[in-house]
Amino acid sequence: MTDDIDRARKREEELLGDALRDQARRAGLAGKTAADSAEYCQADGCDEPISSARRAAYPGCKYCIDCQRRSEHQQQQSARRAFNR
Ligand SMILES: [Zn+2]
Repeated sequence: MTDDIDRARKREEELLGDALRDQARRAGLAGKTAADSAEYCQADGCDEPISSARRAAYPGCKYCIDCQRRSEHQQQQSARRAFNR
């Protein structure tokens, strides 16, 4: 019983991970370098400077950590909604 639940949960996580990876690929982040990252957050009304460490760690990133986290949270919620249909 517990095994079934574990398996189902693991499968769901895999699907979710795949969906997020697909999303990142579609967003065109694959193959980017730190030079493609924004120096300032591109979110509306934010303009936070993005540290060079973050730009190097997340090539092609456009948002500061706060805005990125917010947007990832929203993506996860919509991915979850899609799977729970
Ligand atoms: Zn921001």
